[in-house]
Amino acid sequence: MHGRGPVLPPELSIVVPVFNEGSNVAPLCARLTPVLERITSRWEIVFVDDGSSDDTLELIRAQSLLEPRIGSVSFSRNFGKEIAIAAGLDHARGQAVVIMDADLQHPPELIETFVERWREGYAMVYAQRVDRDGESVLKRNAARLFYRLFERFCEVRLPAGAGDFRLIDRRGVEVLRSLGERARFSKGLYAWIGFRSIGVPFVVEERQHGRTKWNYGRLFRFAFDGITSFTTMPLRVWTWCGSLVSVASLLLAGYYLVKTLLFGTDLPGFPSQIVSMMFFAGVQLMSLGIIGEYVGRVFAEVKGRPLYVVAERFGATAMMMNGPS
Ligand code: UDP
Ligand code: MG
Repeated sequence: MHGRGPVLPPELSIVVPVFNEGSNVAPLCARLTPVLERITSRWEIVFVDDGSSDDTLELIRAQSLLEPRIGSVSFSRNFGKEIAIAAGLDHARGQAVVIMDADLQHPPELIETFVERWREGYAMVYAQRVDRDGESVLKRNAARLFYRLFERFCEVRLPAGAGDFRLIDRRGVEVLRSLGERARFSKGLYAWIGFRSIGVPFVVEERQHGRTKWNYGRLFRFAFDGITSFTTMPLRVWTWCGSLVSVASLLLAGYYLVKTLLFGTDLPGFPSQIVSMMFFAGVQLMSLGIIGEYVGRVFAEVKGRPLYVVAERFGATAMMMNGPS
């Protein structure tokens, strides 16, 4: 009766976004599969081909023919790594999902530690870089500045050195899937969803083949998405700037008044012109800021993030929980 046994869904899914990583596909599979085999036989690898223009997809297909637990989703064009990860989470069926880069900068062996922590009860296990060697000084400092700004203005805390290389429990995956944001800043979202999390330190390895897909333009876009989707501060600073300018104009008016009374005027009309110009410039900035406050709230609503996240349900209520769709 049990000719082939029941087909159990995978326990562990590995999501790998790939964009022109032809030279990395085979080395990655070769190093990853033995690690996965040691953990469980019920694993799957979900490659998300982010519109590669090289032979990446053919190479994945070749791997998939040899090993059916390796599969792929491919995009019609390049949508960017963040969206590729989102698609990966939509297709992964495992109880735990690991996200990693294709270029072997993320050591696959670390996944064993991830799974250990997960089995201990952590819902999110992230790899934490211990250094940023091998990156240019400029990139390293820009990154440090960005994370400092983010800490300052946004309500979620990003653990230092944590990136996309992480294990996420099924509950976390479902929450991430429910956040229908277009400008996705995963690092912020991972922190936003909460759950019991723990970091595992690791040393970033050298990129094996090919070159990095991030240039400064892309990194800036990424940083901007991060800031704008987690705070409306840039909209609101104008209220303060405007108030400051208006107050300064009033002080200036007082100064001119005293000066004219004591010493007479040297250029008639100039003080009143400059003071009124400054005053109204200030008022305009303030009103922009107030509009910003409202746009900020609209933006927060339009994003439609759920108000809270349930970590667990028991008994009859558990029946209400949505299964994977
Ligand atoms: N990647 C992607 N889409 C892109 C850019 C990158 O799927 O538009 C993938 C890439 O193939 C790799 C991962 O994201 O698996 C990390 O990219 P990369 O190594 O270029 O970034 P870095 O390690 O330099 O930050
Ligand atoms: Mg890389």
